[in-house]
Amino acid sequence: MIQKIKGTMDILPDETPLFRYIESVMRQEAEKYGFGEIRTPTFENTELFVRGVGDTTDVVQKEMYTFNDRDENRSISLRPEGTASVARAIIENGKCSDPMPLKYYYIISCFRHEKPQAGRSREFFQFGTEMFGSDSPMADATSIALANSVIKRLGLNNVKLCINSIGCRECRPKYRNALKEYLSSNADKLCDTCKERLEKNPLRVLDCKNPDCKLIAQNAPKTVEHLCESCKSKHEFLKSALSSMNIPYVEDPSIVRGLDYYTGTVFEFIAEGIGAQSTVCGGGRYDGLVESLGGPKLSGIGFGMGITRIILAMREAGVADIEARVPDLYIAALGERAAVQSLVITERLRQKGRFVECDVVGRSLKAQMKYANKISAKYTLILGDEEIDKGIAQLRDMNSGEQREVELSSFDI
Ligand code: ATP
Ligand code: MG
Repeated sequence: MIQKIKGTMDILPDETPLFRYIESVMRQEAEKYGFGEIRTPTFENTELFVRGVGDTTDVVQKEMYTFNDRDENRSISLRPEGTASVARAIIENGKCSDPMPLKYYYIISCFRHEKPQAGRSREFFQFGTEMFGSDSPMADATSIALANSVIKRLGLNNVKLCINSIGCRECRPKYRNALKEYLSSNADKLCDTCKERLEKNPLRVLDCKNPDCKLIAQNAPKTVEHLCESCKSKHEFLKSALSSMNIPYVEDPSIVRGLDYYTGTVFEFIAEGIGAQSTVCGGGRYDGLVESLGGPKLSGIGFGMGITRIILAMREAGVADIEARVPDLYIAALGERAAVQSLVITERLRQKGRFVECDVVGRSLKAQMKYANKISAKYTLILGDEEIDKGIAQLRDMNSGEQREVELSSFDI
């Protein structure tokens, strides 16, 4: 038997209503905040992610699904995230000269060759938003407020917002040096990957999940202590804006985010009680990204929210039970003429928008009634040849068991 690829999932009809509900909340909230949906290709030139996500990141170095295109000697990758594609799309479609800000959202699947575990898969689903063209912390506050609003509407109260600022092109190099110095003096205690990171991208060490590295990270110099005046005042503005909007947060200097393009504000929403993969949403500012992809100087801020992690958190909080839609009517038929009539009535009512089922597998009348019960049909219409001749039938309320006669020609549920 051929099985699905490790780290991918089948989502069956008993689970899709929950996915659809979550996605509809995400869409409604994004649109309320003035974000329009953007759809970009599932695969792109590998170079886009190398430049956009960063060639020192795990995502690009170890996790991308990369292959050569069939007809051209060109390297292609399945998207590991959404931001780089959106940035490319706004440049390519001439949106950078539109009135600012540009506000886009998407619900996509992303692909990363990671070690599959609870809350981590190789194809995963993400709700993301991007806002371009404002370097004001007003934009940061708006982006965080939107993520917060989605999380709250989904009934998640056990989710903590953590924020940090990792500085800009001005202040990051100074911080980087201070960090490098500190880490070098502790290099022997770092994991092998972090020993490598030390040279190329020391900030990433702060993000490492290895317990030894975490310990060292705890006492590392903090980005917020090295911010330039501009970054500091933006960070202070954001904090007071969040407080004024009654959005609780904690400051967490260990948040640096995994991707290279982040600058200034970074944030994560972390769910309690869902295990190690507890970041349900991660985001931040990426003021250099558009320019590095060949576009104009254009600031940006956005986030990605993992839908399966949101589901884990909803299950943990006991708010994941979404009622599946049940049929308005089941038509039970006895005999061939009645069967044809059941099909005719079913079709007529479906065209009117009703959710109606009839027997299509040739069950006995008794088995049909049992099936109607099983699928929780609200009503059952019982049809036999005699009923058809008289133009009437019995309609049973499956809840109360009450039965009444209805006229077939004008029958509607
Ligand atoms: P993590 O810290 O868990 O590795 P990340 O920093 O790599 O996450 P981002 O690239 O910021 O994640 O993606 C945004 C969100 O997408 C994450 O906060 C998470 O909810 C979700 N996500 C990321 N990778 C996966 C994955 N492999 N499986 C499921 N969800 C994921
Ligand atoms: Mg990751």
